[in-house]
Amino acid sequence: MTRLKESQIATLKDKLLKEKEEIGRHFEINDAEEQAALTDSTGELSSYDNHPADMATETFERERDNAVNDAFGERLDEIEQALGRMKNGTYGICEVCGKPIPYERLEAIPSAPTCVDDAPKPGDPAGRPVEEQVMTAPPTGAGEARQRNPGRFDDADAWKNVESYGSSDTPATK
Ligand SMILES: [Zn+2]
Repeated sequence: MTRLKESQIATLKDKLLKEKEEIGRHFEINDAEEQAALTDSTGELSSYDNHPADMATETFERERDNAVNDAFGERLDEIEQALGRMKNGTYGICEVCGKPIPYERLEAIPSAPTCVDDAPKPGDPAGRPVEEQVMTAPPTGAGEARQRNPGRFDDADAWKNVESYGSSDTPATK
């Protein structure tokens, strides 16, 4: 069984620390932008007189930012855990089957806690792609009433629309 060499662990540790630093920088930039975002994103000084549509868009964008932050936060957790495993000597060993994780896999994903066979498969709740966390529902208010009463438009509204052009109840034009 092939254990990782010290030099290999050092390389991977380097990668993890670098990624940790990048994520840390993301959060720093984010904090600085947080204050400015309240006024800048709608181009108005306060949320007092914003058009509802502007507010919906802004809320939507802020929720998306939060989703991105959540994804980064989770990534940071994974990195911290990998660094922790390096400290206590369990790094590079699959958490599920206990076999060594091939160096090639760790090189691609230094924070991987399992071998390829035991990695969460697509479709597992834990293995969903990061992009999905960024995809949030669109702002509410569009087409909701119609969805609440499916089919109603055809019966009533369509008739009302056609009626405005004249019907057998209105005097025939000559
Ligand atoms: Zn395994």
